[in-house]
Amino acid sequence: MSFHWDNSYLRLPEVFFQQHQPEPSVDAAVVLWNEVLMKELGVYPAHSKELLNTLSGNVPRDLRSYAQAYAGHQFGHFTMLGDGRAIHLGEHITPQGQRFDVQLKGAGRTAYSREGDGRATLRSMLREYLISEAMQGLGIATSRSLSVIKTGNEVLRERVHDGAVLARSMKSHLRIGTFEYARYFCKTTDLEALFQYTLKRLYPSINGSSSPVEDLFMEVMRLQIDTVCHWMRVGFIHGVMNTDNTAITGETFDYGPCAFMNAYDPKTVFSSIDRHGRYAFGNQANILHWNLTRWLESLLPLLHNDEEKAILRAKEMLGEFGPLWEKAFGSMMRAKTGLLENSPHADECWKQLLHIMEKHALDYTDTFSFLAYGFDTERFSGIQSSLKEWLTQWRGMPVKYALMKEFNPVMIPRNQWVEELLDAMEKGQEVGFHQGLNALAAPYNPINMEVNRASKPEFDGGYSTYCGT
Ligand code: AMP
Ligand code: MG
Repeated sequence: MSFHWDNSYLRLPEVFFQQHQPEPSVDAAVVLWNEVLMKELGVYPAHSKELLNTLSGNVPRDLRSYAQAYAGHQFGHFTMLGDGRAIHLGEHITPQGQRFDVQLKGAGRTAYSREGDGRATLRSMLREYLISEAMQGLGIATSRSLSVIKTGNEVLRERVHDGAVLARSMKSHLRIGTFEYARYFCKTTDLEALFQYTLKRLYPSINGSSSPVEDLFMEVMRLQIDTVCHWMRVGFIHGVMNTDNTAITGETFDYGPCAFMNAYDPKTVFSSIDRHGRYAFGNQANILHWNLTRWLESLLPLLHNDEEKAILRAKEMLGEFGPLWEKAFGSMMRAKTGLLENSPHADECWKQLLHIMEKHALDYTDTFSFLAYGFDTERFSGIQSSLKEWLTQWRGMPVKYALMKEFNPVMIPRNQWVEELLDAMEKGQEVGFHQGLNALAAPYNPINMEVNRASKPEFDGGYSTYCGT
């Protein structure tokens, strides 16, 4: 069977979408094709002509595809947005009855494109495919990539690029920005409809609760904290944590300017437009809290008829963020360091290690994987005294190596390596890229420890990432 569409989203009030057909590719050529994921979704045969047509934008005339409306705070400023270069083919129901949005990115302009061209470069779609599949391999909730197809169009950015469409799937693209749109651009009945839809589609167990707004908020807060803690675990910097990029499912999505940190420094930023470090590695928890606050503001009319009471309740709920974050983050960092005790002494231990790592710009992935698999003293020479002291103290504590091996990847998609793979792939040299994807599917397997170790630390100094490429 191919896709099995059931577009529940189109049963929302019409303000939430514009029906829109993707632009057909002029000369479709498959570049990446995720057969494993297609099988998981129950979409086969994976090489049918029908599937290739659909994923390249040459969709059947009766397909009710659409672009979603949403707003959002971008770098703190509120604005109307919407799918400007993404078109939902629809919601696919798997043979197991799970529902996934399937979306084409880069298949032409929509009603929400503003001045954008609705297109995507092959290079940026290859990058999204690689990084989202790496996140999946790392065990982090994420949108997935089904395919990258060259369209035959040229796309103008800083130079002329090959154009491509990426097909991506996730449980849902509902985001904080969808609620902000309903709250500030639509009627309260639309906000209510969106809320009920969210419960029914994503959190049916909350449906019928006597405090559904509180329950939904707390559940999503827990999921988002879990996701962002995972980012911190592997050194992932999302790069553009605007409220339109924070999913109600807790899934990581929007892989524009993201990157992985190598040398440990909480201030690390790679995004070319993030000049003040708003979305720096170490600021991601603060921003999550900020985004959740915007979400609760948009939910206030549903929380209580009396605004003062609603605000009071909202503040109480937000007050729970700090303790929940500290608990989740502390337990993750203790596991990364293999520490079995939950004690101030254990917390002091990993904090000291981070301090040493920051001072000496030690590699985040290498340091933790060497703790788990054995120290490469040559690589860590020159910082021997502070580390030696720390190691002596650490070895005196109850440590579980198996835990560290579970929490610490031996490899991540290092920036220099990613760019080299993309350079080669753009030239049609596919072997290295596929080897890279295979390694990224097993980032905890020590067999992959040497995969991209040749990446030079200096490379990151001049590395910049971009939105909307
Ligand atoms: P993002 O940075 O991907 O979250 O995008 C922010 C907003 O800009 C969203 O509404 C996107 O759909 C829109 N956008 C980004 N790139 C383009 C493009 N090339 N054409 C049209 N809209 C775009
Ligand atoms: Mg976005």
